[in-house]
Amino acid sequence: MRVLIIGGGVAGTAAALAADKAGLEPRLFEAYDESAGLEHGVFLTVAANGMDALRAVDAHHVVLDAGFPSGRIRFHSGTGKHLGSIPLGPALDDDSVTRTIRRSDLYGGLYKLVAERNIPIEHGKRLVRAENLPGGVRAHFADGTSADGDVLVGADGVHSVTRTAIDPSNPGPRYTGLGNIGGFTRTADIDAEPGDYVMIWGRDCFFGYTVAPDGEVWWFANPPARQEPSRADLRRLTGADLKSRLIDLLSPDKGPAARIVRDTGGEIRLTNQYDLPSIPTWHDGAMVVIGDAAHAVSPSSGQGASLAAEDAVVLARCLRDLPAVPDALARYESLRRDRVERIVTWGSGMNNTKKQGLVGRALRDLALPLILRKADSPKEMARMAWMFEHHIDWNDTVRP
Ligand SMILES: Cc1cc2nc3c(=O)[nH]c(=O)nc-3n(C[C@H](O)[C@H](O)[C@H](O)COP(=O)(O)OP(=O)(O)OC[C@H]3O[C@@H](n4cnc5c(N)ncnc54)[C@H](O)[C@@H]3O)c2cc1C
Repeated sequence: MRVLIIGGGVAGTAAALAADKAGLEPRLFEAYDESAGLEHGVFLTVAANGMDALRAVDAHHVVLDAGFPSGRIRFHSGTGKHLGSIPLGPALDDDSVTRTIRRSDLYGGLYKLVAERNIPIEHGKRLVRAENLPGGVRAHFADGTSADGDVLVGADGVHSVTRTAIDPSNPGPRYTGLGNIGGFTRTADIDAEPGDYVMIWGRDCFFGYTVAPDGEVWWFANPPARQEPSRADLRRLTGADLKSRLIDLLSPDKGPAARIVRDTGGEIRLTNQYDLPSIPTWHDGAMVVIGDAAHAVSPSSGQGASLAAEDAVVLARCLRDLPAVPDALARYESLRRDRVERIVTWGSGMNNTKKQGLVGRALRDLALPLILRKADSPKEMARMAWMFEHHIDWNDTVRP
């Protein structure tokens, strides 16, 4: 079975590895020129459920080698009040814990595995159109070329072209009212246990950081903007503009946020944050979407990369075990939809706390210590087991 995979992010590379392991013939098409995409983004978390999915395709060592374990998140208000702390996820019996990894290390590591397994990767191939054909599918690229296959897997991210090809009435992503920006620096006197996160609900901007085992500070911020900035607006902002704006936003708060940004060298970029709670149609004929293309969970959930890996592995098992492609795609949807939509809803709740006015902030700072104390109990961790302890058995046969 020829599997055309569009997009070389976590979903696409994991799908290529999974399809290969399932005995199918994957081909990966990525819009960026070779490695250009690796320069973008800062860092991600891979939760225990994401590690489980990567383990199913023998790729978990990418995260074990380049990532570090992340234990707790400690929350503060912008006034310096400690609001509480919660674990980033459970420590499972097999020692799986949530890990933090640079996006470039995760993508680079997965790409390397794809190349080592001799799976063809074609760069500079931006999908512009796809169509079902009798008994197969055709992908059309911006450079005028096309490719035919038996199934097309749209792993082309939150602005997916495949999603629209499957159903033009599928909605696009929802702007969350927040931006994403981050960087890396070495700043003296940072108060954090290596691996733990500190997150600050500042007066004007949410800020988070963690300290890597080598002492480097990895940080992100979510500056709010009611109006969605256009791509051209974002491109016009220089690193120096962004830094000075961010320092202005963070300066009213107690804590090291403004200092961390001031000490950051190198390029920083601002992107818009989106989520995609639910689309009616995940597949049509021989085309299907996975990862952010199907359901973009906000970065606040820490689950985007993990869910993308899970989708990829479940889809490959369905294609391996069910002879007719449409049956396999329908089974994949039925195995995945409820779970991912539940996690998207959970993640967007977290985002709403990041953009509140004066009264909202005061109420939040009063309520959060209680909420966080409750969330830090073993009972609450057990209640979240459905999310973190999700296990995919690669050898289990998928039944219709
Ligand atoms: C540039 C970038 C930076 C990011 N930075 C962060 C970050 O710092 N922190 C964080 O938590 N999450 C970040 N994310 C999101 C995170 O990687 C995803 O939420 C998660 O890993 C799910 O991955 P995915 O493979 O479904 O989608 P993505 O990671 O978005 O991957 C989609 C891939 O498809 C390619 N693509 C898109 N359109 C086409 C097309 N028409 N034809 C061919 N290829 C196409 C893209 O270039 C990309 O490689 C970033 C994503 C991107 C693309």
